[in-house]
Amino acid sequence: MTPTVAAGPLDAALGAIKPEVRALSTYHVAGVTDPPVKLNQNEIPFDLPDEWKAGILNKLSREPWNRYPDTFPERLNRALAEANGCDPAGIVCAHGSNVLLHTIFMATVGAGRRVLIPSPAFSLYEKAVAVLGGEVVTVPMDSDLGYDVDAVLRAAERTAPDVTVLLSPNNPTSRSLAPADLDRLLNGLPGLVVVDEAYIEFSRFPSLVRRLDAHPNAVVLRTFSKVYGLAGLRLGYLIAHPALAAELRKPAIPFNVDRFSELVAMRLLAEPERVQATVRQLVAERDWLAAELVAVPGVDRVIESDANFLIFETPFGSSAVFNGLLGRGVLIRDMGGYPQMNRMLRVSLGTAAENRIFLDRLRDTLRELARSTDTTDLT
Ligand code: PMP
Repeated sequence: MTPTVAAGPLDAALGAIKPEVRALSTYHVAGVTDPPVKLNQNEIPFDLPDEWKAGILNKLSREPWNRYPDTFPERLNRALAEANGCDPAGIVCAHGSNVLLHTIFMATVGAGRRVLIPSPAFSLYEKAVAVLGGEVVTVPMDSDLGYDVDAVLRAAERTAPDVTVLLSPNNPTSRSLAPADLDRLLNGLPGLVVVDEAYIEFSRFPSLVRRLDAHPNAVVLRTFSKVYGLAGLRLGYLIAHPALAAELRKPAIPFNVDRFSELVAMRLLAEPERVQATVRQLVAERDWLAAELVAVPGVDRVIESDANFLIFETPFGSSAVFNGLLGRGVLIRDMGGYPQMNRMLRVSLGTAAENRIFLDRLRDTLRELARSTDTTDLT
């Protein structure tokens, strides 16, 4: 319950909150907690096998819970360095890559600092810049929601950003930057460039990590929340030149990776076939679902995706489509509030069965909307 009038000391405390923060809204995911079919947060639909969980919990029970973990997780940094073919000194882990984007901005953003964000982009970036009193410069995507590389470079020349954020593949657009375009950007942009690769395993293009030596101005962000299926545990990491990583470690919160997340991540890194199988299965589902979606009466467009989700457009209000699906037990994401994404929705890939239910319920929803708005005959 929100009190109607704040008085006295509470007023004083609220007055201490920065105006930039008071102007923000709290991160909110629309919908219900446990829908029958949950396709709204780009999670993968597969949990770890029970025997793996039991084995990891057994190991955890032998760890000293009363002792702090490493300030920065040494064992995990070494395993990640090996998996990515880089120097462990270039790695910083945290309790989710969301934490790391704050860490990077703590090190780089303040009053008078500018951050260039081609948009639409994952909303937390803009929010974190606002909290720290920096200025966001946005550049629109092209008409297919791909990066307009020339426009980004022109905006950088005009505004001299301290930091640029590139998401590849991008959430929410599902589009990637081809290596040649990424190279052009990294060669032309001033300052530090964050390259968020949360969905890279699902992309047709390889990670930037193996080419990081040629681009020491880049910081690559990776997560265990997507292809590794650990969204519930919270673990992300960055890879950068060791000199840059050393600076980014300074504002980072120590002991940010607990013993449990470290153990689980170590186990998953030792089982690369699980990731490969997940990618194979979800990419096959993505290609199948994209082809089915474009053929659904009332779907005007499906954006070519390099991620584990699809963006599609209908002639109806996106909230009407969202609510129609929710009423039929399928929770997806309404993207109508994002720039250039009016009338668009985002569906994360689920199991083969879930994707078929989604498609079926979408057909019903669009048929009903067509009937009630009577704009087109979709039957
Ligand atoms: N980056 C992008 C582009 C994302 O879409 C997300 C999750 N929605 C994240 C980062 C957050 O990752 P994590 O769970 O590691 O905080």
